[in-house]
Amino acid sequence: MRHIAVIGSGPAGYYTAEAAQKMFGDAVRVDIIDRLPVPFGLIRTGVAPDHQSIKAVSRRYEATALTESVRFVGNVSVGRDVAIAELLELYDAVVLATGAPADRPIGIPGDDLPGVVGSAAFVGWYNGHPDHAALAPALDGGGAVVIGNGNVALDVARILAKTEDELGGSDIVGHALDRLKGGHAGDITILGRRGPHQIAMTPKELGELGHLARARPVVDAADLPPVEDDAALDPGQRKSVTHLRDFAGRDDTGDAPIRIVFDFFARPVAIEGEGRAERVIVERTAIGADGSARGTGETYAVPATLVVSCIGYRTPPIEGVPYDEAAGRFANDEGRIAPGLYAVGWARRGPTGTIGTNRPDGFAIVDKIAEDSAGGSDKPGRPGLDALLAERGVDVVTFRDWQRIDAAEVARARTGAPREKFVAVDDMLDARG
Ligand code: NAP
Repeated sequence: MRHIAVIGSGPAGYYTAEAAQKMFGDAVRVDIIDRLPVPFGLIRTGVAPDHQSIKAVSRRYEATALTESVRFVGNVSVGRDVAIAELLELYDAVVLATGAPADRPIGIPGDDLPGVVGSAAFVGWYNGHPDHAALAPALDGGGAVVIGNGNVALDVARILAKTEDELGGSDIVGHALDRLKGGHAGDITILGRRGPHQIAMTPKELGELGHLARARPVVDAADLPPVEDDAALDPGQRKSVTHLRDFAGRDDTGDAPIRIVFDFFARPVAIEGEGRAERVIVERTAIGADGSARGTGETYAVPATLVVSCIGYRTPPIEGVPYDEAAGRFANDEGRIAPGLYAVGWARRGPTGTIGTNRPDGFAIVDKIAEDSAGGSDKPGRPGLDALLAERGVDVVTFRDWQRIDAAEVARARTGAPREKFVAVDDMLDARG
């Protein structure tokens, strides 16, 4: 028997388990360990709550989870309850699929003022991640600045802009819906340090901003390059830019009260305010020959009591695991970290790509595991982990337990919503019955 431990139950973790099943059949046992009592990582707490069709991929992971060879070991924190060195003693291979759940710091003066949050925290708040449930974002109409021109910036702007009705069929958690319906952010400015041709936004997600009930996208036509330059873009990028051209051509006097303003060639240089964020100081940029943004020295202020930086993520280090500080992920050679220790998904390559990108990643890492060791070993695997966790009094959550938590969340959903998530770990544990 071959024993594999996968740390993290998000897409990268489950695709790795699926690949191991396909490669080794009955000759493998995979334990998917997660620090939360609930599985699916980014699918549950990263994907936008109004993108339910994307979240449906968890059904595929469930099919993997319910097989004999794969087990969910929830509520177990690697580093606290069990060390990496111990897992390497117990398993033939340990695969870190811990994602990139920490915000990359924006690193400008004033970024520690109340009202300034990273997207991991903000998205975690509206998605009910226990670490971020207590965030109380300012929704007092004082304006919001969203920093970054990727899909996360779009998610954040859209959730801020949507009405209660528009969020009706989503699984946004009650505490976030209550605050969003009780107030609003005001105008939302999306800052891009480069231009329309450099956005990292995909067409479907960008197009959604054109159909909101109380918000309208605003693009300055002067920021757009000549239309013939779009021919040099790849098809997806070209479609996205076509949306921007559509937004620029719209009448700016529409009656939707909230404006979502695309401010291109605009990089934040400071956040100012008396004891809280009140404005972002922005420097106009120009694109250099190498494609990077250079400051022009011209600055202006954008009012904002909420500032959400959506500029990418980092993988938190784990004690004893080599770490690439500059890249913000585990130091690895195509997934290999050290003998028996691997990384996959965002923990391997950084926070890029779609959920589906993790599937080939999972298969590639299992190929490497197969290359590195011919067959099984006499390592203890599951029984060894169980004994260690029992000795330490760790309250392990199984996939069957999760199914009970899941059923309880579905049962307490508000009308029209798929579920109402538990946001406190203790409530999740209690819901096992
Ligand atoms: P991203 O796509 O890498 O975008 C990050 C953005 O932040 C870029 O526009 C980048 O600009 C900007 N940025 C970085 N550092 C900055 C700084 N110091 N100041 C100002 N701007 C800065 O990252 P993401 O939006 O976090 O998304 C992560 C991944 O998840 C992406 O692959 C994304 O497509 C995916 N995702 C997909 C969906 C979906 O499919 N619905 C939803 C959410 C996320 P530069 O280009 O100039 O560096």
